[in-house]
Amino acid sequence: MSENKDRPAKQPEHTAPTERTGKAGATGPTGSTGAAGGAERARAGEKSGAAAKYVYDFTEGNKGMKGLLGGKGANLAEMTNLGLPVPPGFTISTEACKVYLASGSEPATLRREVSAHLAALEETMGKKLGQSDDPLLVSVRSGAKFSMPGMMDTVLNVGLSDDSVDGLAAQAGDERFAWDSYRRLIQMFGTTVLGVDGELFEEALDEAKHGRGAATDVELEAPDLKKLVQSYKKIVSREAGREFPQDPREQMDLAVRSVFESWNTDRAKLYRRQERIPGDLGTAVNIVAMVFGNLGPDSGTGVAFTRDPASGHQGVYGDYLQNAQGEDVVAGIRNTVPLADLESIDKASYDQLLGIMETLENHYLDLCDIEFTIERGKLWMLQTRVGKRTAGAAFRIATQLVDQGLIDEAEALRRVNGAQLAQLMFPRFDDDAKRDLLGRGIAASPGAAVGKAVFDSYTAIKWSRSGEKVILVRRETNPDDLEGMIAAEGILTSRGGKTSHAAVVARGMGKTCVCGAEELEVDTKKRRLSVGSRVVEEGDVISIDGSTGKVYLGEVPVVPSPVVEYFEGRMHAGAEEAGELVGSVHRMMAYADRRRRLRVRANADNTEDALRARRFGAQGIGLCRTEHMFLGERREMVERLILADTDEEREAALGQLLPLQRADFVELLEAMDGVPVTVRLLDPPLHEFLPDITELSVRVALAEARRDHNENDLRLLQAVHKLHEQNPMLGLRGVRLGLVIPGLFAMQVRAIAEAAAERKGAKGDPRAEIMIPLVGTVQELEIVRDEAEQVIADVERATGTRLKLSLGTMIELPRAALTAGQIAEAAEFFSFGTNDLTQTVWGFSRDDVEASFFTAYLEKGIFGVSPFETIDRDGVGALVRDACRAGRATRPDLKLGICGEHGGDPESVHFFHEVGLDYVSCSPFRIPVARLEAGRAAVLGA
Ligand code: ADP
Ligand code: MG
Ligand code: MG
Repeated sequence: MSENKDRPAKQPEHTAPTERTGKAGATGPTGSTGAAGGAERARAGEKSGAAAKYVYDFTEGNKGMKGLLGGKGANLAEMTNLGLPVPPGFTISTEACKVYLASGSEPATLRREVSAHLAALEETMGKKLGQSDDPLLVSVRSGAKFSMPGMMDTVLNVGLSDDSVDGLAAQAGDERFAWDSYRRLIQMFGTTVLGVDGELFEEALDEAKHGRGAATDVELEAPDLKKLVQSYKKIVSREAGREFPQDPREQMDLAVRSVFESWNTDRAKLYRRQERIPGDLGTAVNIVAMVFGNLGPDSGTGVAFTRDPASGHQGVYGDYLQNAQGEDVVAGIRNTVPLADLESIDKASYDQLLGIMETLENHYLDLCDIEFTIERGKLWMLQTRVGKRTAGAAFRIATQLVDQGLIDEAEALRRVNGAQLAQLMFPRFDDDAKRDLLGRGIAASPGAAVGKAVFDSYTAIKWSRSGEKVILVRRETNPDDLEGMIAAEGILTSRGGKTSHAAVVARGMGKTCVCGAEELEVDTKKRRLSVGSRVVEEGDVISIDGSTGKVYLGEVPVVPSPVVEYFEGRMHAGAEEAGELVGSVHRMMAYADRRRRLRVRANADNTEDALRARRFGAQGIGLCRTEHMFLGERREMVERLILADTDEEREAALGQLLPLQRADFVELLEAMDGVPVTVRLLDPPLHEFLPDITELSVRVALAEARRDHNENDLRLLQAVHKLHEQNPMLGLRGVRLGLVIPGLFAMQVRAIAEAAAERKGAKGDPRAEIMIPLVGTVQELEIVRDEAEQVIADVERATGTRLKLSLGTMIELPRAALTAGQIAEAAEFFSFGTNDLTQTVWGFSRDDVEASFFTAYLEKGIFGVSPFETIDRDGVGALVRDACRAGRATRPDLKLGICGEHGGDPESVHFFHEVGLDYVSCSPFRIPVARLEAGRAAVLGA
């Protein structure tokens, strides 16, 4: 296999992940047909009670009617009305498909309507479908609202039969052409409509070429093709149990029906689930008069882009194949030529094509991709749509179009998304490096990972402990592989799609993953993988690219993303080495910042993260967890606190912790001078600070055997037993700790207050906010707040400084959300802890369920996406929405934020914008994504 960079038509992997988010972000997986769909339905006559209209001539549609006519039909209509050379035709709507799928038969009026449109088409063309001396031929093409590449069916040359093939030959003056078209029809009709295995036709074709000593299909002559048609017909009657239909209308009707049915093939269903396309949209069917690219060397077919889908640059990008029909150009059966060569082959058509491409760009105001055919020097447009593009090109194109004055800033924001930006932030393989492609799979979780191939989890763990970088290679993964996945740099599987265990878990962990690389033969017993004759043994280095799905042999050098270099401030947007991409990202971020209403903060516990967050544009810290400040050498003090029998012992332990905590906060408040820092008081259950129960038990048992009593260990073990909980997530933690361990929260509040006072003394501008976790009722909060206020007043008195510390709470339990109106009486701010809220609303714990049954739920379509990744609008989201309303009813100036991981998820950010939060808080690395999506939310809602 070799790398082929200039085959844009074959690069769906670049856009798959962004498409998904784009789709969901723009329209939402549920209410996606929205207003347009309603209007279209009304037009279809359902509401008025009149007989529904199911068929539309190309002159009747436009690009806004994708829901009804499908993307292909809507754009064919748009091009027709632009006056471009589109072969005439008509579209059977998605509504007809829906009726068919629901009832098992076509709508009663459909046949009559199709007949009327067919008659009009025959009139326009001056010949009848399948007419024996001069047959009208048509293509029957699927086309749904969202493009589903390769998922559904198309049949060309419909109308050709034993009866009309000679007529076609006579009309074209080319016998070879007629028989070539006929054999193509039987082949396509046989496979897609009659369900015959396509291999059988391929074999027969190979045999025919072989018999002739021909290398390619164009070398077959009319007599060869005649014979081939006979073989094809035999294959059909043997395999399908019926003869190939000779009646042209029957061919057409059967093809239409099979397009309807192709909506519900397993692969189409799976694709829709993965791409989050609703399953009830149905497909439209386009009937298009055939034009022929297989009429000799002055004919041909091609695909083109109005800009380079990889860089966004304007130019001539595409492929052309002489004397070919339909998909030959992308099927790789013969070598295509670059589109630019068409200039020397057929200058007139070439010039016309370039003119049309410009028309399309100026009309769609975006990159378009097109399919065209040249029939004896006459150019025909067969398809266009706003083209897919790489993440980098999306940004560049958006700013290029602004510069050309074609779109404004708001529109530019609609043209990119956070998933694309995230993709641009991953380190990637050096474009200039040599690479040896081994194969490819599904781009499941982005990133570039290099390591030694290992074939089981145990080896992954063992090798990584000794400092090796490894890639875990499995046929598929299961929950037992979890530790190995954590140890590995990346994960490669030969089976499973975007919702396989490997993919879901890797995305959750932010690990690079390529899955479903089916051409790779993974043999875990022999510990090797092979592709054809090439073998990778355990320990051989491989490189996997989770953004493209490509797998390379050997080490491909990795370079940091220039976009991250820019956010880090190590590269300036204007600098020469920054390049166009960084310049575009810089401008798009500025557009987003100008538009967004949501503020963006960071979840950061230490100065390093805080400073990075600020460089990335954070406007404060929304969540500073304090538990990390109790680990390391401080753990001993915490042990002492837990073991304390007397008030003195406890106070002594707290007294040791206080100055350390204070120093932490001083540093953090200095790093975040002038912006808010929300500090969450201790949240996790105490046993997390104690040694592991098994380890400790063994230590104590061994000591006993040696009769060597360690008093402290014994006490610790008792405490560990005492604190052991069945469900720590629902146990003694959060505010509950503050209420049962005297002095703990007071110490933390004092540390914050004294740190703020110190910063004020140093002429700083500290803006600490104190946040109480896991509150379920306002009474809990009131008790903690009263104590905190006393401590603060104390510190103010002692230091002679006025401290404006605000006190608020997390809303992360259903009860807190349901009683938010009461809780707001004691809280100056809410911060939604959507991780715990998701766990408690659904009643499952993330660590337990993600590896065990999420894959099954995703595959069964119960979830479109994990509720830990994207907020569950209907459940968790509803609670958030109501709590915001109730909280603000009590306290109109209540500040509202969210600090769960959803704060950096594009679709969730849109939700938080909608419900009126003041800010989202996310991990430092996600901040640019959140800024961008907050800007997009503002312009999409506008
Ligand atoms: P897909 O959705 O898979 O791209 P299409 O419906 O576009 O399928 O058709 C498959 C191929 O057949 C394309 O290359 C297209 O340009 C070509 N084709 C479709 N209709 C016609 C037609 N009426 N005349 C000539 N070629 C056609
Ligand atoms: Mg097409
Ligand atoms: Mg929590």
